[in-house]
Amino acid sequence: MSTPTTVTAYAAPAAKAPLERTTVERRAVRAHDVRITVAHVGICHSDLHQVRAGWGSEIFPMVPGHEITGIVREVGPAVTRHAVGDRVGVGCMVDSCRVCENCLVGLEQYCDEGPVWTYNSVGKDGQPTYGGYAQEIVVDEAFVVRVPDALALDVAAPLLCAGITTYSPLRHWNAGPGRRVAVVGLGGLGHMAVQLAHALGAEVTVLSQSLRKREDGLRLGADDYRATSDPATFEELAGAFDLLLNTVSAPLDYAAYFGLLRTDGAMVNLGLPEEPVQIGLQSLNGRRRSMSSSGIGGIAETQEMLDFCAARGVAAEIEPIRAEQVNEAYDRLLAGDVRYRFVIDAATL
Ligand SMILES: [Zn+2]
Ligand SMILES: [Zn+2]
Repeated sequence: MSTPTTVTAYAAPAAKAPLERTTVERRAVRAHDVRITVAHVGICHSDLHQVRAGWGSEIFPMVPGHEITGIVREVGPAVTRHAVGDRVGVGCMVDSCRVCENCLVGLEQYCDEGPVWTYNSVGKDGQPTYGGYAQEIVVDEAFVVRVPDALALDVAAPLLCAGITTYSPLRHWNAGPGRRVAVVGLGGLGHMAVQLAHALGAEVTVLSQSLRKREDGLRLGADDYRATSDPATFEELAGAFDLLLNTVSAPLDYAAYFGLLRTDGAMVNLGLPEEPVQIGLQSLNGRRRSMSSSGIGGIAETQEMLDFCAARGVAAEIEPIRAEQVNEAYDRLLAGDVRYRFVIDAATL
């Protein structure tokens, strides 16, 4: 019989409080559960957001972390997908209803009941979920993906959120040969979007405030790199793109960006401003353009993305940190000072 385990973790004890070393309890392994020793965990903007600013429904203490890679240490008696010793990953979700129309087609992230998020959420057992800034995590096998051998566990970790968040819309809006994709912003999401769009065969342009990260952008696979602070960018690239993937959370001059889309082009927003945005529909109407948004990706698509990254040599560019550097890393992330993802080495917990 499996028993609950007490594991070391980093948690925020209250809103806006610094994270501190503590312990959390992991449930006993149930029939379909996998117990994972965490190897690496990426620091996502939404970790910072939920700990510091708040989306209004936080559960404290909070153990953030939904870009998790590790090794399977124990499996429940009914588990068939994973075995002890397997290299695995866990992303933003750890459960869903599994019977609604979205779950049935592999869009668990859009579950009618809302998925159970990896942290700051309540599981079907009524208990709060705690994320990956911890030595171990226990997750139902259906929400655990396989990390191919070709991907190191540290650079694979950010793929579980930043990777799938960009891969899913690129696939949905058919980024590929003959298609022109612009990635707005070169941060954690943007640096994955550029690599993935390039690997999918699309022609890729980065639209960034300045040319400061131009060399990085071109090295990651961009064909062109333009500064949005230069008005000439919007004149020269008018009507140029099939898809704009916007990774910036601050509101933009949307009409100016719609002008960059060709007929039937789409602007897909991954960064979400806190306040409602205003757009003039005229700038969409002219060329049947659309404005949309997209959230992570389903479990099967997450596996597809990891396999694609392994086959094409795509991975995150990371700054590895020790667990005790997490608060400092949050400050730097807030200042936009990271290239391109902080990843905690869980052995330092
Ligand atoms: Zn995330
Ligand atoms: Zn569902």
